[in-house]
Amino acid sequence: MKDKLSLMIPGPTPVPERVLKGLSKHPIGHRSNEFQATTEKTHKLLQWLHQTNQDVLTITGSGTAAMEAAIINTLSKGDKVICGDNGKFGERWVKVCRAYGLDVQIIKAEWGQPLNPELFWKALEEDPNIRAVIVTHSETSTGVINDLELIANHVRKHGNSLIIADCVTSLGACNVPMDKWGIDVIASGSQKGYMMPPGLSFVALSERAWEANSRSNLPKFYLDLKSYRKTISKNSTPFTPAVNLYFALEASLEMMQEEGLEEIFKRHERHKKATQAAMKAINLSLFAAEGFGSPSITAVSPNNIDAEIIRKYVKEKFDILLAGGQDHLKGKIFRIGHLGFVSDRDIITAIGAIETSLSSLGILNQPIGKGIEAAAFELAPKE
Ligand SMILES: *Cc1c(COP(=O)(O)O)cnc(C)c1O
Repeated sequence: MKDKLSLMIPGPTPVPERVLKGLSKHPIGHRSNEFQATTEKTHKLLQWLHQTNQDVLTITGSGTAAMEAAIINTLSKGDKVICGDNGKFGERWVKVCRAYGLDVQIIKAEWGQPLNPELFWKALEEDPNIRAVIVTHSETSTGVINDLELIANHVRKHGNSLIIADCVTSLGACNVPMDKWGIDVIASGSQKGYMMPPGLSFVALSERAWEANSRSNLPKFYLDLKSYRKTISKNSTPFTPAVNLYFALEASLEMMQEEGLEEIFKRHERHKKATQAAMKAINLSLFAAEGFGSPSITAVSPNNIDAEIIRKYVKEKFDILLAGGQDHLKGKIFRIGHLGFVSDRDIITAIGAIETSLSSLGILNQPIGKGIEAAAFELAPKE
């Protein structure tokens, strides 16, 4: 059926009608009073979402623009940094750092395993000249959540170094209190937890990060955050922003505020649990190590069949788009995105579709219903 596609991928994620309506408005002048009001409002709400008193700067660009901005605004040529790498996005941080001539030490974990926070502590102890530690909170490629709070804590105790966090698929899904955890830089993007189309990214810097900024000598112009900081103090932007995406952002942040942070986190937790329980009930293995499943993405590794066959079947038969595995995981896993504008109904539907597909493909080996039953149990109100 046309026009019925349901996005169950970790970005772009589904967009509510109220947010879509922002996109259909006439653009207005970005130096107008009306647009200033939108900028002011979105800025306040972004601070609320990040749980910070610092400025949260909005960039017209995808999440990678925020990643690049985080690096080039806080570091200098030849600086030593540590990158956590347990998936595709950890790898991307390494690439960004190397593109700017940083001296990168990599702390690895197998894909599917979480980063070991103690290895960060050890590395910081061994080298007092580490300028920054970079961690992907929710590793989208594997569905693993890393212990950002503990790693940030280690970095804070060490003293000299910044903690830069990729929260693209954790912000707006689980608790990421920037100021409380002492995170120096948070990067995120609109098409993930924000219930928005792609096109905007966000970066917030702590006082320490701004101090580092005053020493940073890496080349920058469009992504020079000093100009974003200067203009946000006047509720404005340095260049022409994606005006309609700001309207969408205003609507999405209002919706998030109406739901409330605690409720948003609970919903993602419930969907994670329901999805995990359902996959186990239909004898599919979870790819992420037990206890380290991301609140936004569940990666599933079917044992005796190419994961792409299941993914294609679900797409063709049910118009539900699941994500595949990346690089060496292609065909080994599929990923269910449950991030942003996702309801209990979406979870039930996706699980029902996967379970039915397995049955049709002749690989369920049990009556249909156990997956749905397990999910329904997790979704039911608990007292
Ligand atoms: C999506 C994503 C990004 C940003 O990717 P873009 O395609 O540039 O928006 C960065 N980190 C993680 C963990 C992501 O999931």
